[in-house]
Amino acid sequence: MPNDSNADKKDDHNCEERLNELKKFVSAGVWEGVSLIDWEDWHWQLRNRIATIDQLENLIKLSPEEQADVLLAEKRLALGITPYFFNLIDKHDLSCPIRRQVIPRIEETQSMPWERDDPCGEESSSPVPGIVHRYPDRVLFLVTDRCASYCRYCTRSRMVSNATGYDFHPEFERQVAYIREHKEVRDVLLSGGDPLLLNDDKIDEILKRLRQIPHIEMLRIGTRIPIFLPQRITAELCDILKKYHPLFISIHTNHPRELTVESRKALGRLADAGIPLGNQSVLLKGVNDDVVVMKALVQKLLMCRVKPYYLYQCDLVSGSEHLRTSIKKGIEIMIGLRGFTTGYAIPQYVIDAPNGGGKIPINPNYIVSQNDERIILRNYEGKLYEYPEPICLNVVK
Ligand code: SF4
Repeated sequence: MPNDSNADKKDDHNCEERLNELKKFVSAGVWEGVSLIDWEDWHWQLRNRIATIDQLENLIKLSPEEQADVLLAEKRLALGITPYFFNLIDKHDLSCPIRRQVIPRIEETQSMPWERDDPCGEESSSPVPGIVHRYPDRVLFLVTDRCASYCRYCTRSRMVSNATGYDFHPEFERQVAYIREHKEVRDVLLSGGDPLLLNDDKIDEILKRLRQIPHIEMLRIGTRIPIFLPQRITAELCDILKKYHPLFISIHTNHPRELTVESRKALGRLADAGIPLGNQSVLLKGVNDDVVVMKALVQKLLMCRVKPYYLYQCDLVSGSEHLRTSIKKGIEIMIGLRGFTTGYAIPQYVIDAPNGGGKIPINPNYIVSQNDERIILRNYEGKLYEYPEPICLNVVK
């Protein structure tokens, strides 16, 4: 039986912690005096996004590298940061891991020969605009071109930077018709842009239309809203989402500091609505290319009821070289996680292969040698173990 008085104390503590965090947020900088009601209103957060260079420079002292690039940013990858997420930046730390994800830098203007605007070759697997059909039984359905904030390494920057702000994709009916006609498709992943930026009615409509297709078994949503705009995860939205099970949500978090009291509350609401939650992280230089940081992130995710799902090697998107880290570093991080923390906390490290090759797992090698009779394995501590193959495999018939 739960101890009610302990649970109450914990709730009181959580409320107090949340209130303190909110007070800290709304008393900062230009948002001083904003009411908690406004601060917790996702429409207010969107209306007050930092979207211009002037707004950014009024709020934070930019480094020369940042100053140079924000001038160009308006012509390239869109600039957008919600006040909530902006307040997670340590204003005095030029190498703040939150800052590196959303404030443009001069390095973005340098493109390497191997970089592409469409690094994963999505356009070449797109039978209908906004549908990517690469794997046999599932499709990616790009329902909007907008996001709450813009990540500097976005794989779909070609799309979100030219956002027309459509709510339904202009080809929505053709997209749904394609899915209906392709009976091999059993899994639809809604992405964009960010699907949870749509209003409740539109989300309801899209999910309802997809659920009417008999061969669709599962629905998934890829979103960074619980991290950029946790205020959007309202009880009303959760009531809509839970009508369409089995529905899975993949969030996108890169650093443990993104998992605030607010985001934890939003994720709790989604989990309480029966939605299995997974996280996708991108391995980014100066953000999370460190085993201590990554371990803290995956452990904190589990505390938010989110299973670490993928760790992506950064895609070869134009202007991302300064944010990429080596594959050797990624493997080192995976070695530092496996065995050293809960198995549930271990994501699959993958490279989404250039030009449409799809996700390819990258694993540390725990096999020392292997023949028909035995395999020699190395455990997480570096100790060697032998495991015999079944003897009947070696009997000649
Ligand atoms: S939230 Fe996703 S789609 Fe939007 S900018 Fe970030 S990575 Fe790109």
